[in-house]
Amino acid sequence: MRIVQKYGGSSVKDADRIRAVAGRIAARHREGHELAVVVSAMGRTTDDLIALAEAVVGDRRREPAFAREMDMLLSTGEQVSIALLAMALKALGVPAVSLTGWQAGILTEAVHERARIRAVDAKKLRALLAERTVAIVAGFQGITAGGEITTLGRGGSDTTAVALAVALGADRCEIYTDVPGVYTTDPRIEPRARLLPTVTYDEMLELAHLGAGVLHPRSVELAKRYQMPLFVGSSYTDEGGTLIVETRSTRPEDVRHERSTGAASYAQDRSASTELKARTAAEAPGASDSTGAHPGASSENAGGLEDDRVVSGVALDKAVARLTLVGLSLRPTTLADLFEALAAAGVNVDIIIHTTRNDGTTDVAFSVQEDDVDRARAVLDGLQATLGHAAVEVEADLAKVSIVGAGMATRPGVAATMFRLLADAGIPVKMVSTSEIKVSAVIPRALGADAVRMLHDGFGLGEENGLGRLAARIAEAAE
Ligand code: ADP
Ligand code: ASP
Ligand code: MG
Repeated sequence: MRIVQKYGGSSVKDADRIRAVAGRIAARHREGHELAVVVSAMGRTTDDLIALAEAVVGDRRREPAFAREMDMLLSTGEQVSIALLAMALKALGVPAVSLTGWQAGILTEAVHERARIRAVDAKKLRALLAERTVAIVAGFQGITAGGEITTLGRGGSDTTAVALAVALGADRCEIYTDVPGVYTTDPRIEPRARLLPTVTYDEMLELAHLGAGVLHPRSVELAKRYQMPLFVGSSYTDEGGTLIVETRSTRPEDVRHERSTGAASYAQDRSASTELKARTAAEAPGASDSTGAHPGASSENAGGLEDDRVVSGVALDKAVARLTLVGLSLRPTTLADLFEALAAAGVNVDIIIHTTRNDGTTDVAFSVQEDDVDRARAVLDGLQATLGHAAVEVEADLAKVSIVGAGMATRPGVAATMFRLLADAGIPVKMVSTSEIKVSAVIPRALGADAVRMLHDGFGLGEENGLGRLAARIAEAAE
């Protein structure tokens, strides 16, 4: 099989972890797979590099004039880990070559600090895989047509991995991290969180966008578009594992776990499943229904989860701010002028609410990521003459708590339950937004973690002795 794996920063945080990861890769290599492995910078390296930039130029490191150099700086983090991992593999006798983003042919648009991947020229990677060399690729970075180094945005190594998997026509993409899969909520916030053996691409996309940091949202977007099988598991243990699947009707029987490796494969339709099962069984002779089944996918367990679950998960985004333009006299062009100017300044606006008062003036409130507050404020100040608002109010200490579930689309009353639970807990709701499969509420940041635990419990997602405890233990070990 051709497999793309990705190991995140905490999985390669020190020499011991790098050797441990090399050992896992070597075992897969021995099984005969073709492997391309994407790695993130060691531990908190990227944060440390950002802190260094701040030590030199302060907050100005956020200015567009510094963006090119920020990419030059941050891309070094991944260059360290690929070299060390390739050395660790060679020391184990496994042929391995490290490649930077540009050496691996990752072409991006000409935007710094949040570039999107345009294409992957996988010639070199294919040649390496063909000769059974493990290609170790730097995550999170690429190169523009003009030869400039770019980065993809924080957490972007997941997206590198899926893009490579698509370009290589891999059988699947495996993301290894410091928790054993995708949980009903962040197991660091709620240790009673349960592992989800399967989650749909759409649910995962919402969860990722809404703050569940376990996958970069763009990686899920890509995987869905190209129907790339995506597996999330722990780099510390073979227990657990989550498969991202297309629909809830993907049956637990279609999910198989390769015990020896911690990986799993699945089939979307029944005709394909027999063949895949046969292949999986051939590669992992020890795997059978009773011993090889995914721990969370025993029939009672997964059947219940698949059939009854209205809410699959709770996500928290802790970096939300709200800006309100007070006392506008709304003209037909006001909203267009306002949001065009914000977009031009690169401000990502999330929830928008406008309210007309008795005196005929209008307030327009919108939420943004905390990082964007200064830029948004500057845009609003610049528009004062055009829009004629009386004041701008900024509330910075907010969070967004969201419930997500594909089952919501067909069940009424889910939002009502959420608001009742929040009201009973005395948590004020400042803004609301909904889609077919999620409800989000903007609340005071200080109450964010409490709201997550309360909603998780309120929607019956918790489990007394859940695997969440395992995740929490591993997360602690990873600190
Ligand atoms: P990596 O360095 O491997 O990319 P990340 O820190 O980016 O790891 O992502 C893993 C973290 O995501 C976990 O440690 C966990 O705290 C967090 N997380 C948030 N929501 C969830 C969730 N629903 N399921 C699992 N992990 C989650
Ligand atoms: N090293 C980068 C970051 O910390 C990319 C990644 O980890 O995915 O954001
Ligand atoms: Mg990550």
